[in-house]
Amino acid sequence: TSFSELGLISPLLARLTELEYHQPTPIQAQAIPSVFAGRDLIAGANTGSGKTATFALPLLQQLFGQQSADKSLASKGSKGNYVAGLILVPTRELAKQVADSIQSYSAHFNGAIKTVAVFGGVSVNKQMLALRGGADILVATPGRLLDLIASNAIKLDLVQTLVLDEADRMLSLGFTEELSALLALCPKKKQTLLFSATFPEQVQSLTQELLNNPVEIQL
Ligand code: AMP
Repeated sequence: TSFSELGLISPLLARLTELEYHQPTPIQAQAIPSVFAGRDLIAGANTGSGKTATFALPLLQQLFGQQSADKSLASKGSKGNYVAGLILVPTRELAKQVADSIQSYSAHFNGAIKTVAVFGGVSVNKQMLALRGGADILVATPGRLLDLIASNAIKLDLVQTLVLDEADRMLSLGFTEELSALLALCPKKKQTLLFSATFPEQVQSLTQELLNNPVEIQL
């Protein structure tokens, strides 16, 4: 399979060529068509498998398509502190890394897709500024995201796609309560993609609660 056979559009294909991604990794080849089809997904994936591009490429393509279909900036402005694609990650390092990858994949979108990363351990002010007017994609650690919601810097009621990256680490780091609080703030109708290296009981019950008839990929 090639990336073009997976149905990716030319601004992404051109970028992947520049990044020397010559062909999809196994998880990308298996999962990207299901993500495009709107299915929920549960994937057993380690770092190094190419999991970031697995969720980032179809998410970017979906949001870019929506923007092209709806050029009126007025409608975007009226959404306020919206976020369309929410990616929850366990650590600040992963938040930065995922946001960097997404920004890199967006290189040929001419700034149409705004990606913001928020995480703890640094001042909240810059992150609040970055969130003004909302974000197409927000990469966040759970605690800091809850703080930002509490101060009205962002709202989750327009989330279309939710990604839980490294779900097992998120739960083992003690984010269970934060996670439930955040999930309760997202719309019920959305696409959810869950990635985890391991599937202990906690992850399994989260999966059952959260995912709707998911496609399962175990590599
Ligand atoms: P990840 O598992 O998402 O952390 O990705 C691991 C590394 O593989 C990152 O450095 C990516 O840039 C790289 N990568 C992801 N997909 C591909 C691909 N299809 N071809 C070559 N490198 C890739």
